Amino acid sequence: GANVNPEETFWSPAIRGLVPYVPGEQPKIPNLVKLNTNENPYPPSPRVVQAIAAAARQDLQLYPDPRATALREAVAAHHGIHADQVFAGNGSDEVLAHAFFAFFRHDRPLLMPDVTYSFYQVFCGLYGIAFEAVPLNAQMQIQVADYARADPLAVGGVVIANPNAPTGCALPLAAIEQLLQSQPRRVVLVDEAYVDFGGDSAIQLIGRYPNLLVMHTLSKSRSLAGLRVGFAVGQRHLIEALERVKDSFNSYPLGRLALAGAVAAYEDHAHFEQTRTAVMHSREGLTLALEDLGFEVLPSRANFMLVRHPRRDAALLAAALRERGILVRHFKLPRVAQYLRISVGTPQQCEALVQALGEILAA
Ligand code: PMP
Repeated sequence: GANVNPEETFWSPAIRGLVPYVPGEQPKIPNLVKLNTNENPYPPSPRVVQAIAAAARQDLQLYPDPRATALREAVAAHHGIHADQVFAGNGSDEVLAHAFFAFFRHDRPLLMPDVTYSFYQVFCGLYGIAFEAVPLNAQMQIQVADYARADPLAVGGVVIANPNAPTGCALPLAAIEQLLQSQPRRVVLVDEAYVDFGGDSAIQLIGRYPNLLVMHTLSKSRSLAGLRVGFAVGQRHLIEALERVKDSFNSYPLGRLALAGAVAAYEDHAHFEQTRTAVMHSREGLTLALEDLGFEVLPSRANFMLVRHPRRDAALLAAALRERGILVRHFKLPRVAQYLRISVGTPQQCEALVQALGEILAA
């Protein structure tokens, strides 16, 4: 009838709790200095583009390899592991979703930092997983001792990002091992989306820890956010669980173009080294320049940094930058409301940012 509310009528109850993604962070403004979503400021290797073009001319009418074998072999060779210890998916967001489904739906809360990648809580909402947000310490660092529980079954698992986002702070591998040892009966997921910008990868620990799952993405250090490729690394029993979840959702998560481009990214090691080194170098320069302007900069091992000005409102600073065509990220979360998260751009972009901030602070 005329009074039917289609959302109430047709949506299943679980949908009402889901929050739509607001694509406001990808506006189409010319000459934008885009330092708000932690993309790589450099384009991918030209070999990636060539490989995608070649793949587009070949067999696109055929389904791709459902197991992404060539990519898993390339990843395994890069990290010195076996291809059957790798699970690839359509961006690490998708792999994370499968991992939450496969490992964290216990009747106990999943532990995660109170300040971390926002999608972890989104996946908890999607799958009805209870979680406990464990506070960062006063220096905005993850305190691994806070994740230990006397009962090894008291929690449903642990997820952390290392380096963490949006803080950029990294834990040493000894702390990751402490975390793994404190949760012998649950999966500890270590999201290393930003590890190539100066962190230490826990991939070298997978042989010793059957509960360790490490997440990587090609969106950051490989400049392929537009391709949507990520992967998880762990012992075979964890990978098999992810394969079962995947097979129940989508037989072919990675298309032929994504597979070809991702494999080629691992074949151009020089490009990878050049671009990640350039980003790390710019990060150090930007840190000093922002400190000169009076900002406090959290020590970052990622391609972004969390900064705050002791006397300026962060939301107002972000708005003033936006008026000048420079996008940075401001979070309304209480713990970080006084901070801006700034992705490291090219030297020119960093310079434009520093100059704009100088003008804004002087006004
Ligand atoms: N993990 C973290 C910590 C991230 O910041 C991001 C990117 N926003 C992702 C995972 C997801 O990356 P992608 O889906 O592009 O692989």
